[in-house]
Amino acid sequence: MRKNKIEKIAVYCGAAAGTFPAYADAARELGRLLARENIEIIYGAGCVGLMGVLADSALECGGAVTGVVPRQFVSEVVHRRLTKIVYTNSMAERKQKMAELADAHIALAGGFGTLDEISEALALLQLGISNSPCGFLNTSGFYDSLGEFLARASEHGMLAPNHFSMALFDENPEKLLDRLRAYERPQEKLYWRNFK
Ligand code: AMP
Repeated sequence: MRKNKIEKIAVYCGAAAGTFPAYADAARELGRLLARENIEIIYGAGCVGLMGVLADSALECGGAVTGVVPRQFVSEVVHRRLTKIVYTNSMAERKQKMAELADAHIALAGGFGTLDEISEALALLQLGISNSPCGFLNTSGFYDSLGEFLARASEHGMLAPNHFSMALFDENPEKLLDRLRAYERPQEKLYWRNFK
């Protein structure tokens, strides 16, 4: 059942391609899927690693891809064939812009940059500042240990159960997209850290 209209998705992923081809395969598959579904990709504008694979596959399939990048970024890593580029004055502003443009967020395999971006999207969702659902494309169990960490944080009272469930994990891009569309914000009153 579709509850959320998703027209633009922010995708966060590695500036590296990783050592296992499964990660690039997943980025390619997601790029194709989003193009097919007419969902615009908002991403970090890179032409390298999984970022480049994602953008190329969506563009090849006629999809729209918007890159958001700080002006100071060296131009060699910026993709040259994007539908649109939005320049920002800092990394912080870039993250804010990506979140502002997107109806949902997906993290593919990645490192600190990817974790930073998806964590902020989840923190804003937790606080009620944003309503955009967040998912991890869990290719070959890449995010299993993060799921375990979050489960422990929840068991130990660091993460409310209804906040824990905000992080969606799925190995299959189509299923993940269905879950983002079906996502419903928990109805129970969120705890004290929530804003009015
Ligand atoms: P990481 O996961 O550490 O490889 O960082 C990737 C994330 O950080 C992406 O989603 C980008 O938004 C941003 N980022 C890091 N490095 C680059 C780069 N060379 N070009 C564009 N964006 C980058």
